[in-house]
Amino acid sequence: MVSSTDFDTNVADAAAALRRFADAPTAHLIDGRSVASETGETFDDHSPVDGTLLGRIASGGAADVDAAAAAAAAAYRSWSRTPGPERKAVLHRVADGIERRAREIALVESIDTGQAIRFMSSAAVRGAANFRYFADQAPAAADGRALPTPTHLNYTSRRAIGPVGVITPWNTPFMLSTWKIAPALAAGCTVVHKPAEWSPLTASLLAEIALEAGLPPGVLNVVHGYGETAGKAVTEHEAVKAVAFVGESVTGSMIQAQGAPTLKRVHFELGGKNPVIVFADADLERALDAVIFMIYSLNGERCTSSSRVLIEAPIYDRFTEQLAERIMSIPVGHPLDPETVVGPLVHPRHCEKVRSYVARAEAAGATVHAGRRPDGGGNDGSSNYVAPLLFAGADNSMAIAQEEIFGPVLTAIPFADEAEAVSIANDVAYGLAGYLWTADLARAHRVSDELEVGMVWVNSQNVRHLPTPFGGTKRSGIGRDGGDWSFEFYMETKNVAIALGEHPIPKLYR
Ligand code: NAD
Repeated sequence: MVSSTDFDTNVADAAAALRRFADAPTAHLIDGRSVASETGETFDDHSPVDGTLLGRIASGGAADVDAAAAAAAAAYRSWSRTPGPERKAVLHRVADGIERRAREIALVESIDTGQAIRFMSSAAVRGAANFRYFADQAPAAADGRALPTPTHLNYTSRRAIGPVGVITPWNTPFMLSTWKIAPALAAGCTVVHKPAEWSPLTASLLAEIALEAGLPPGVLNVVHGYGETAGKAVTEHEAVKAVAFVGESVTGSMIQAQGAPTLKRVHFELGGKNPVIVFADADLERALDAVIFMIYSLNGERCTSSSRVLIEAPIYDRFTEQLAERIMSIPVGHPLDPETVVGPLVHPRHCEKVRSYVARAEAAGATVHAGRRPDGGGNDGSSNYVAPLLFAGADNSMAIAQEEIFGPVLTAIPFADEAEAVSIANDVAYGLAGYLWTADLARAHRVSDELEVGMVWVNSQNVRHLPTPFGGTKRSGIGRDGGDWSFEFYMETKNVAIALGEHPIPKLYR
């Protein structure tokens, strides 16, 4: 990989942005104050680039979550009653703060996750856009409907549900957390955020920016720590009324069980094994670009990645040959190099999991094509770099077609006709997104209708429009984000019925 002035500048700026995390342990943010864990415990956060220690992070437990939940409950009383236009103004100031520090956020995120800077720069800006979008919705969030009858006027209104827990994963942590936190705050909820332990740094930047923007203390609290301790405590806390969770399906099941005794409302965005179906009549050049973008961007660590490409038989050989050829020139390298597409994967344990599928693919009889690592090495365990992988000649029963690998790994499967394409697409436990490439409009509608997923993109990669619903079916999730769907989760609806006159009231006595 060529080294450029931009790369050198990025490295120098990232070192400056990361210094604070190396100099002192990163604390929780509870009630507007930086606090260490009650036990004094910390955990280490390492760089996926070379394993160096980025910093020590407070490791929270039940006592820290209890303090954060108490702060959130106290702040809820005034924040939920703060007029919508005022909440709107504060949230726009948070967006301003994110935009001002977007480069710092992108650099820190890139090193903490291993994600290429070209994607993290836009993810930071997306974080600000999420805040702006939901800020604008805040004034009308409580609005309801009028449902009159001849005898009564019924009207509904909404009120924030209370303090909520937000638990996020490590893949694109900043953008994903804003996607949950911004609508929660716009609705009038207060938040206890438990970021992922493998990439915790930008959560502290967001909380700091929010506080500086004038968000009152206690409205957004961050408790760092492990899922089994800090995360579990958030899901079990009596004061936390709902949990918005993004992560693995199996963790979602655990959270549902943990939250059952306190009857938590849950919103889950979980794993995926998303199909992209390519019919022979499609614009194949555009389809190739989209397929490659949707699995090899963001290190393939993306819930909506199209990790299974289903290709119509007559074009199968040509399409997979072109995929195999193109992955050879996908730049793999240092995440701060502006040229890089695939950076190091987040953690050695995750690399091990991703690499394990190479042997499984070979054992199952698939053909393995691999791109190039920056050091020219193979997909061994010597670093977190995993070259882009294509498993061709697969069938849908193989583990490489059924399991979420969450890396730069694409499984290619041929199909004979439309019915078989739909059947293969649906024959997985997941149901998040589906992609479809065809020039036949009627078929596009038919297949979109048949796919057991929450979102379909036709002749397109994932292009997100914030007012639209985002979420999955089956083991991919419960509930939807985006637009008013977010408020349906973060708010309670109340109906008020007022008698318009003297309607009959049954008399139960003689
Ligand atoms: P994960 O489930 O391991 O962890 C996610 C978060 O949950 C972390 O903060 C973790 O500490 C916490 N956690 C773990 N155990 C917990 C418990 N028992 N109680 C409470 N919290 C607990 O997921 P991950 O490995 O960090 O992220 C990758 C997964 O996230 C993938 O499956 C991916 O598909 C999914 N994801 C989904 C979406 C979506 O929108 N559907 C978006 C991004 C990522």
